[in-house]
Amino acid sequence: MIDIVDKKDCTGCWGCANICPKSCITMKKNKEGFDYPIVNEDDCIKCKKCINVCPILHKEEIENNAVAYACFNKDEEVRIESSSGGIFTLIATNVIKDNGVVFGARFNDLFEVEHSYVESVEDIKAFRGSKYVQSKIGYTFTEVKKFLENGRKVLFSGTPCQIGGLKSFLGKNYENLICIDIICHGVPSPLAWNKYKNEISNGKKITDISFRDKTYGWKDYSFRMEFEDGTSYFEKGSENKYIRGFIGDIYLRNSCYQCKFKTLHRQSDLTLADFWGIENINEDMYDGSGTSFVIVNSEIGNQVLKKIEEKIEIKEVNLGNAIKYNISAIQSSYNNPRRKYFFKNISKLKFDKLVEKSLKEDFIIRLKTKVKKIIKI
Ligand SMILES: Cc1cc2nc3c(=O)[nH]c(=O)nc-3n(C[C@H](O)[C@H](O)[C@H](O)COP(=O)(O)OP(=O)(O)OC[C@H]3O[C@@H](n4cnc5c(N)ncnc54)[C@H](O)[C@@H]3O)c2cc1C
Repeated sequence: MIDIVDKKDCTGCWGCANICPKSCITMKKNKEGFDYPIVNEDDCIKCKKCINVCPILHKEEIENNAVAYACFNKDEEVRIESSSGGIFTLIATNVIKDNGVVFGARFNDLFEVEHSYVESVEDIKAFRGSKYVQSKIGYTFTEVKKFLENGRKVLFSGTPCQIGGLKSFLGKNYENLICIDIICHGVPSPLAWNKYKNEISNGKKITDISFRDKTYGWKDYSFRMEFEDGTSYFEKGSENKYIRGFIGDIYLRNSCYQCKFKTLHRQSDLTLADFWGIENINEDMYDGSGTSFVIVNSEIGNQVLKKIEEKIEIKEVNLGNAIKYNISAIQSSYNNPRRKYFFKNISKLKFDKLVEKSLKEDFIIRLKTKVKKIIKI
């Protein structure tokens, strides 16, 4: 029966729920809105498959000679709709053209975020763009396995811990599997997201959401929510309370504060990210519309990138230099002491006020700690 030593470490990958032969593990939301496994002990046959599949209890150690690139899609329309350089869409398109299947994170009808798969180029659009909420994996690992065993090519994209969960669930390498992860700051609470979404929409039907609207450019990105009545909510990311709370580490999953998947030795074939700082590394690759930071982790990843070479601008870069501007690749998020306050008051205060108060007090705590340190010196 699954029992992670420290529950704080569970990433909610659904690996145990996918593998249980008696279907006696259900993923239940805790008070913060994150999925955790609950075992029905009456049905459990103690086969230990759930324990053996857990990527935290049995993490695979990998040694990669990672190579880094700055890239962007030459198709300006796709690039503008994507979070960084629009590389994901190109790779996904090739997989579909090879009669493959693509898995990724999309909005459902209620604008909650969940994993699913598509089999047509037109449908890839649903996965385009970062959704800053933990995506529900559901039973997609089981679906991936079925496709792989039937000889279909599969592209699975997700956070590094989701890739860890999938690889552990599969238990062996498949030549027809491509895994793409992202450099992940951390995953926000679906409960926090639902509260924010409901307060902003205020009963109006939502038709579209972008966390990374590029109206004011890639670096100065905005949050946009559109409604059926033709109105919209639009705010610069630097001012938007949901984005500020996310970047301020107030409502990330507990495991994100000591993430076991922050490394340059990744289980994925390719890692995609924003190339923050590219203007200081290679000016030619910066025009303000979005540059992707792509890390090739395996020979499969190398082949995948080669296949899209004609459709992208690409320059090899020094990995160490690039990481300096994107420390989330290797370092966990700040364990914000105001996180407790946020979740304690989540049903009492309006979202904007709650984030404002959490961030303000966090600033004071950090200032006091600094002053104390100076006095000690
Ligand atoms: C929660 C989160 C945190 C991130 N943190 C960082 C960071 O700290 N630094 C950085 O450089 N980049 C980060 N990124 C990645 C970055 O925002 C882009 O996704 C990446 O640059 C790919 O961009 P693209 O233009 O190639 O493709 P896009 O089309 O923009 O990317 C789409 C891809 O992202 C996946 N995706 C979207 N939302 C989710 C989700 N909730 N969970 C899992 N997968 C998702 C889709 O499945 C698809 O593979 C983060 C993304 C997410 C979702």
